[in-house]
Amino acid sequence: MRYLIISDIHANWEALQAVLAATEGEYDQIVNCGDLAGYGPDPNHVIEWCRATNAIIVRGNHDKACAQLDNLEWFNPVARAAALWTFQALTLEHREFLLTLPKGPVLFGDFQVFHGAPQDEDEYVISEPEAREAAQYLDTQVAFFGHTHLQGSFAVHRNGVRRTPEEGFEIDESMKYLVNPGSVGQPRDGDPRAGFAIYDSEERYIECRRVSYDPSDTYRKIVDAGLPEVLGRRLFAGV
Ligand code: ZN
Repeated sequence: MRYLIISDIHANWEALQAVLAATEGEYDQIVNCGDLAGYGPDPNHVIEWCRATNAIIVRGNHDKACAQLDNLEWFNPVARAAALWTFQALTLEHREFLLTLPKGPVLFGDFQVFHGAPQDEDEYVISEPEAREAAQYLDTQVAFFGHTHLQGSFAVHRNGVRRTPEEGFEIDESMKYLVNPGSVGQPRDGDPRAGFAIYDSEERYIECRRVSYDPSDTYRKIVDAGLPEVLGRRLFAGV
């Protein structure tokens, strides 16, 4: 089975279209690590597409916040403004759909899926020590997650942890893998291209990739919607 792994679309329709165009015919199922909505101008479009096509979706912190204005005190002013805007913009059906999304980790195929960390869906896995800690909670050899908007994977061995090669890697049976496909709709690693991963479970191969798109239309929609302008501007820099 070949999986397209995506995360953190954040209502960015144009970035999502670029990922789909770049991966056409390369996968059998779509796996979504959460944060469908929040920040971007197209939450209803994106949610409708996810509902229709994704095989598994776990909830992200923004999905919870945008569906019921929950935990907004943890959000910075820009994220809070975007959550309030998204709550108003969402159809009732889509709000309810976001509330039905399961909390990770969820077992799917031969891997687990969660938004932040296996021990806490809202926790960030950024560093090697955090990856090592998270790996203790995994029930499977491979897991996919998002939340940080930073593409990259960790290979965890009982003697240590290392980052995997950027271009892709074969699964080594002695390791556990925490794989972050990066963010489709709001990358934050200084590279504005949309991030995603492809996992081939027969070949035992995972690759994280990027695809360029022009954020001009997304920027204009963000400004026209009355969302904070910085949410559009940052898409050009990938920060
Ligand atoms: Zn996110």
